[in-house]
Amino acid sequence: MNVNTILSDVLSGARMTEEEAAFLFSLKGRDVWKVADAADELRERKVGDAVTYVRNMNIHLTNICKNRCGLCGFGRKPTEPDAFCFTDEEFREHCRDALSKNVTEVCYLAGIHPAFTIENYENIIRTFHEVIPGVHVHGCSPDEILYAAERSGITTKEALIRLKEAGLGSVQGTAAEILVDRVRKIICEKKLPTAEWVRIIREAADLGFKATSTIMYGSVETDAERAEHLRILRDLQDETHVFEELVPLSFLHKNTPLEQAGIVSHGATGRQDVLLVAVSRLFMDNVNNIQVPWSKIGQKMTEVCLMAGGNDVGGTMFVDSLSREAGTAEGTDYFSPEDMQIMCEDMGRVLKQRDTLYHIL
Ligand code: SF4
Repeated sequence: MNVNTILSDVLSGARMTEEEAAFLFSLKGRDVWKVADAADELRERKVGDAVTYVRNMNIHLTNICKNRCGLCGFGRKPTEPDAFCFTDEEFREHCRDALSKNVTEVCYLAGIHPAFTIENYENIIRTFHEVIPGVHVHGCSPDEILYAAERSGITTKEALIRLKEAGLGSVQGTAAEILVDRVRKIICEKKLPTAEWVRIIREAADLGFKATSTIMYGSVETDAERAEHLRILRDLQDETHVFEELVPLSFLHKNTPLEQAGIVSHGATGRQDVLLVAVSRLFMDNVNNIQVPWSKIGQKMTEVCLMAGGNDVGGTMFVDSLSREAGTAEGTDYFSPEDMQIMCEDMGRVLKQRDTLYHIL
């Protein structure tokens, strides 16, 4: 395969194959910048010069989790000394904090508490709306939906309908990690298999939900498995148009069971971070928004990836305990719009605030 041919074909409108994506992921040296350059050109043509962000807050209600995934430094067993689960009043206090920060979105990110049923999730969503009127609630991964449905003796479709009635705004496409079961058995053995993840996202789409698509890269997957993951997302998007964005999540290895077991010695590299964003832009021709999550890779690397096909920085965040526990390199709690503005001016791009569904505010 030839990198120049692949890039010129894609820029002429051809759809990249999975094999070509795997090849691009393997590139090193100057070829990395060729891919980044083509991705930046496509980004400019497709979505222009805006860099978007959402004013949001992550709320980590509990770190107690049924899964204890190999890739995660956040989840705890109920008996571990630093396990926590907010009381109702503590949860409301965090919601009031979000309200005071004028967020338009709350992102419910937490462990999957082994005792939770669908009622717990309904109550969480209703409380968000009660304390922060008008807020968009983004939450409930397919793994959470499946577990809550099973615990409650209902189907996943019924669970989704109840979550929608409670006020869930959009479904989190997390728990995707790498949608290849060989990899899932190593990095998140207790999470739902690939076919179930796809089935639940399809159900969510049928009910009118929008969702995020994600990829957690840099642990034990091969270049071919990364490409297979993107192909599964692209096929699902062709069928459902459910995804507003792709969020490439750089694997952070510190304090994870994978590191402690000696299965990984490092997380994703800078080359992989750039290529993931760039190849995603070139391969995912049916997704407009390629997010660069600054809390995973730091603000300077975020700027580099925004010049390699990215057009969104995700949220202001205010809290990201998941990345902090997994040893991210920089401060991860808050990226102020003022600092985003400095970054955008430095690149010659325009910062714009959006809502969760990418409407410019
Ligand atoms: S990644 Fe999510 S599901 Fe897995 S252990 Fe961590 S909090 Fe639990």
